[in-house]
Amino acid sequence: MSIDLRISGGVVMTPSGPTTADVLVAGGRIAGIVGSDVSIESDRTIDATGRLVLPGMVDVHVHTREPGYEHKDDILTTTQQAAAGGVTTIFGMPNLQPPTTDVATLSDVFERYGRTSIVDWNHNPAPTKPAEIQGMSDLGIRAYKIYMVVDTGRTYPHPAGTGMHDHGHLLQIMDHIVATGKRFIIHPHDQALMDYIEGQYLARGENTPEGYASAYAAREGVIWDTAIDVVLRLAEASGCPVHIAHIQTRRSIEAVRRAKAAGVDVTCEVNHWAPFLSTWEDVQVLGPYALSYWVPDDNRAAVWEGMRDGTIDIASSDHAPHTREEKEIGWTEMWSAHTGTPGIQYYYELMLDAVNRGELSLQRAIDMVATVPAEKFGLEGVKGSLVVGADADIVIADMAHEWTITNDDVMSKTGWTPYDGRTVSARIERTIVRGRDVYADGAVVGEPGYGVLAAARNDPAAQAAEHTADLAGKDLK
Ligand SMILES: [Zn+2]
Repeated sequence: MSIDLRISGGVVMTPSGPTTADVLVAGGRIAGIVGSDVSIESDRTIDATGRLVLPGMVDVHVHTREPGYEHKDDILTTTQQAAAGGVTTIFGMPNLQPPTTDVATLSDVFERYGRTSIVDWNHNPAPTKPAEIQGMSDLGIRAYKIYMVVDTGRTYPHPAGTGMHDHGHLLQIMDHIVATGKRFIIHPHDQALMDYIEGQYLARGENTPEGYASAYAAREGVIWDTAIDVVLRLAEASGCPVHIAHIQTRRSIEAVRRAKAAGVDVTCEVNHWAPFLSTWEDVQVLGPYALSYWVPDDNRAAVWEGMRDGTIDIASSDHAPHTREEKEIGWTEMWSAHTGTPGIQYYYELMLDAVNRGELSLQRAIDMVATVPAEKFGLEGVKGSLVVGADADIVIADMAHEWTITNDDVMSKTGWTPYDGRTVSARIERTIVRGRDVYADGAVVGEPGYGVLAAARNDPAAQAAEHTADLAGKDLK
């Protein structure tokens, strides 16, 4: 066996815990995890002494903005941020222009990733056209995504074809998805309750960051809780595996905990802003730049508890960049501002910082960013774990490196981060995708188009894509 790369001397986070070992890489996959005394020739060695060797993040919730909103970010800039942030696989989201709702638009998006993505990728289309559901599955997706909003046919953020509110429609689509074996990602939202609640705020003239924050969190988060209760009940009724985005309230975390205990196939995710941003102080200081959503302190405590006990399975960024102009209007007209924040570049480091602060065990942090998303989205043994045979998607991190996040380092086109000025205690030094550096020594070194479709080993879609790539690389006469 010829070894391409040996990562020596680091503390390697394996599924059974941390161990000081060397990681051997051959053909883009992990070929061995061995002691330092094992002598074997390798083309290249990275000294990881004093460092943690971790699986790369599998981020299943990323808004790349391409096609349609490339002034915010595109696949290249998104995956540059991913590389810098230790994210080795991204799953894009369908609220693009055109929205990803059928085989044609999904194929177009796949081609775009194939041309410019630096890291491995997949994409979550919206399953609003029943006749397209199986065909999109056959292309190699791992999940579908919808917003539980009334489809008003508008453009952004919930373009026509990505909203689904009617419960009968939800159940019908779940029945279709069951046949594909894929997971259904749902942005929970009770539109009828929200129409009433935000109407009250707007009638009182509270079109401000504080008003918006309060409306979404009103009555202890009722718009989230009722939506999630519906999703859980329909998941049970259909057998459809569901994934709940943006978990943030105490009651909904308890509901997920109960559903799991009852055997419902549900996973949920926490986005960076819930544990690390969006306190009331953040809303007051950063206004529209803090929002996504306000998470009141008692709910944030429940979020941390859910992260620790595993009720919250997954950390995914919900990277949702917007320009300063799109945010600035929010100081006086928050309902006209775009909500969401960039997040993919710093989430992994914020999680490692939380480990250093004792908020979360290293095992839970790694499970949340890498191992569990890979398992729950059909990439077990391929992504998310440092095990022999898996892709060599590896992050090398210094857990004793204090540094300060600033807008100057932001690789998003938008040029800002809500974490500007925040000091963290851990730093990602190197990101490796299938054995090759994509980020090292403070610079993105990955090549556009290096990333490939993230798929199960036995997925015919991946084999077809690999075959095409092989042919492209050959001198066909
Ligand atoms: Zn999102």
